[in-house]
Amino acid sequence: MIKLFWKFLAASCLALAMLPTASFATGYTQTRYPIVLVHGLFGFDNIGPVEYFFGIPYALRADGARVYTVSVSAANSTEVRGEQLLTQVKQILAATGAGKVNLIGHSHGGPTTRYVASVRPDLIASVTSVDGVNNGSKVADILIGLTPAGSLSNAVLGSITNGLAKVISFLSGSPTLPQNAVAANVSLSTAGSQQFNARHPEGMPTSSCGEGAYNARGVAYFSWSGAQPYTNVLDILDPALALTSLAFGGERNDGLVSSCSSHLGRVIRDDYAMNHLDAVNQTVGLVNIWEVNPVTLFRQQANRLRNMGL
Ligand code: CA
Repeated sequence: MIKLFWKFLAASCLALAMLPTASFATGYTQTRYPIVLVHGLFGFDNIGPVEYFFGIPYALRADGARVYTVSVSAANSTEVRGEQLLTQVKQILAATGAGKVNLIGHSHGGPTTRYVASVRPDLIASVTSVDGVNNGSKVADILIGLTPAGSLSNAVLGSITNGLAKVISFLSGSPTLPQNAVAANVSLSTAGSQQFNARHPEGMPTSSCGEGAYNARGVAYFSWSGAQPYTNVLDILDPALALTSLAFGGERNDGLVSSCSSHLGRVIRDDYAMNHLDAVNQTVGLVNIWEVNPVTLFRQQANRLRNMGL
């Protein structure tokens, strides 16, 4: 009898070990519609083994989400990137048979996802902006010379430009897509963003640093962001973000975007102790160990969408 028990136990363990991993999924991130992750300026979907959204697709898929990463021009206008994204959204819908997708965009990916939701709201269940450049970046303003002369010293301006160059030299563009750094800069400047927002206002706050509509034309809008430029002494890009953060004076920012500029729809939080790259778990997972892990925020958002039936 005891022998039989052990045989049964061994067979059960073997059977369990052979089950595909997905069978263990809890369904915590199992949204109704596929999740599409959209990268920012000078982003990429993958370079070798390094993902832009580092470790995030895996963490979402592990508990049931269908996740797609897309590749749009690293540096181009929001509209050009948006049209590229729309084409890929249609391909994902055709491939999956889904009626809509949930878009999550980081940095310039915020306005890029908003463009698609604005022109084709029928295809989009939700837009989530993570450290999004929704109301422009003072770093972009400096790059295109919109900052009034004399408002910052030359030394500070040089530091900001150096910091950004270091961030950019780390993040490579996708060589096959059209790149237009000037157009990207205009889109990311405060003035360029305001023009874009006038044409595509869905989910944007109507009061200074307020929240936007939680739902516009059938699309749910969310955002979160960090507000700490320097978070981990081991991350080689943190000193660069500390330099670019000088562009904001005393205003709360993540190194490249102010907390207020990141606001879209329902503001989940705008003051996580994270910088602009921590938000996507970069550099390669080096984030603030004293703050909630950024991967957890993506999982929580998938669960939030799931609970809303999206
Ligand atoms: Ca980091």
